[in-house]
Amino acid sequence: MTCSEIHSPPGEWIYDFNLDTLGERLIQLGMPSYSARQVFRWLYVRGETDPRAWSDISLAHRRTLADLFDTRMPRIPAESSEKGGTRKILLELRDGERIEAVYIPEQGHVTFCISSQVGCPLACAFCATGRMGFRRNLSAGEIVSQVLVLSGLKEKPDSRFNIVFMGMGEPMLNLENVIAALDVLTGDHAMGIPQRHITLSTVGYPAALRELEHRFPGVKLSVSLHAADDETRTRLMPSTSSRSLKELIQYLSSPRRHPVTFEYVLIRGVNDSPTHARQLVKRVAGIHCKVNLIPVNPVAGTGFYPPDESAEERFLAVLHRSGIRVTVRRSKGGSIQSACGQLATDVSPS
Ligand code: SAH
Repeated sequence: MTCSEIHSPPGEWIYDFNLDTLGERLIQLGMPSYSARQVFRWLYVRGETDPRAWSDISLAHRRTLADLFDTRMPRIPAESSEKGGTRKILLELRDGERIEAVYIPEQGHVTFCISSQVGCPLACAFCATGRMGFRRNLSAGEIVSQVLVLSGLKEKPDSRFNIVFMGMGEPMLNLENVIAALDVLTGDHAMGIPQRHITLSTVGYPAALRELEHRFPGVKLSVSLHAADDETRTRLMPSTSSRSLKELIQYLSSPRRHPVTFEYVLIRGVNDSPTHARQLVKRVAGIHCKVNLIPVNPVAGTGFYPPDESAEERFLAVLHRSGIRVTVRRSKGGSIQSACGQLATDVSPS
C-alpha cells in the first residue's frame, strides 16, 4: 500500500463543487470557466476520474487539476452480497466516517438505495440506523458519489437505474445538501437522471418538502407513516411528536405529479389490527397515493416482530376493500442486514 492510499491527498474534493463554484475556482486558477462543464462531463457522464485522461483540457491545466483536486471516490472497505444479487456496500468517507449504500437488481433495472446522513437523529424505535445515533450530515458530493460508486457495479453499463433515498438518515434534515446533490444527479450539465427515477423517503417535514417539491416537482415522494394516529406514531417515531399527522396529511393532499407512497411498517401487536387498517384508510382517503406495507425487518434489541400471516392478510383485506392501491414489500437484503431499516455501520460491520 502506498502513502497516497493511506492518507487523503490535501486536494479539495471535486465532488463537493457545483458547476458555478467549480467555474469560479477554475478562473482563480487561470483556467476558463467553461472547463467546469468539461470536468463535469468527464466525472458525471463519462465516469473518468483521472484528470490526466481529460483529453479536451490542455495538458498544463490537467496537471493543475490533478495537483489541486482530489477526484477519488469513497473507498469500499467491505461489501456483502446475497443470492438474488443485492449488494450492501460500505463506503468510507474522507474523514473516516462510514455509510452504507445498497445495490438492488430488479426486473429490467437496478435500484440504488443511498444515504443522506451518517447515522440518523430520528431514533425510530424499530430502525437499526436510529439506534446508532446521528453523526453528521453528508455533503452533496458524498451523496452523489454513492450513485457513482453503485453505477460502477452495474453488469451492463447502459442499464437503467432508480435512486431511492432510503438508506441512512433523514433527507429533509439535510435539505440544502440533498438539493445540491439532486442538482448534479438530475441536471443536464451532469448526470441527467430523470427526476421520476428518484424517490425520496421522509418521515415528513412539510416546510422542507414544500421547498424540495418546488425545486424538483418530478421527484417521487415516499412518506414513512407507520401509524395513522398520533399516539402510536409518536411512540414508534418520537421525532414526530412536535408535528401532527393532520398537518402532514393536509400538506400531502395538494395535487402533485406522482402519487405519494405511504410506507407502513407492520409490527405485530402494535399497528397491525383491522382497526389500525381502517384508521389508515380514513387518514389517506382523498390523497393521490399508494400504500406500501412492510412487515418489519427484525432489528436486534427492538422487541418488534412482523405480524403472522393471517394478521397481515386481515390488514391487507381492509385496504383492498377500500380501493386503495396497496403493495406488500418483501424486503430484499434481509440475509445481509441491508433491508429497510437495517443499515447501521457500527452495529453490523461487515
Ligand atoms: N428517514 C427517512 C429515510 C429512511 S428510509 C424515512 O424514515 O423515510 C428507510 C425506510 O425503512 C423508512 O420507511 C423506515 O421507516 C423503514 N424502516 C426502518 N426500520 C425498518 C425495519 N426494521 N423494517 C422495515 N422497515 C424499516
